[in-house]
Formats: sequence, C-alpha cells, structure tokens
Amino acid sequence: MIEIGASELERIVGAELAHAKSRRWQTAIVRAARMIKAETPMHWTGRTLLFWSDSSELYEATDDVCQCKAFNEGFPCKHRAAYKLVKRMNEVTR
Ligand SMILES: [Zn+2]
Repeated sequence: MIEIGASELERIVGAELAHAKSRRWQTAIVRAARMIKAETPMHWTGRTLLFWSDSSELYEATDDVCQCKAFNEGFPCKHRAAYKLVKRMNEVTR
C-alpha cells in the first residue's frame, strides 16, 4: 500500500467530499477512506484498483466501472470512491 501521512489522507478525503456530486457519493467516499485506513487489501495496477470482495470475487474499479452490486444497481460504490482516493494519493506521493 502507499505510504501517506494520515493528515495528507484527511486532506484528500476532505477535497473529494467537497467535490462529491451527491449524498451517496459522500457516503461511498467515507467508506472508502475507512477501508484505506484499515489497510484493507487492494492493489493499484497503475490504471485500475483491484479488490477482493467479502465473497472472494475480484473487483476492478476505475472512475466509471466496478463489478459490485451497488454499481450494477446504478449507485456510487466504495470501490470507485477508493479508486479516486488512491489515484489522488499516488499523485501527491509521486
Ligand atoms: Zn464497487
């Protein structure tokens, strides 16, 4: 996982929350931040973010694609929110 200070993560999360398009996106961003802080296993491929779901399925998230139930139902999901956060984290730590 990426080495990043807690305050830097808070700053990125705050910025994403400020730009969130809806309440559902805000919830997804908060959940994604919680996963990152809990060091939930995820892998940045350089273009996508990979997750192993609770049911051991592999999800590959980008800005506009995921394979989880929430995404399939047309809702923002924590995976795509995590993609946004990790992408930003990579940009500031480069
Ligand atoms: Zn998802």
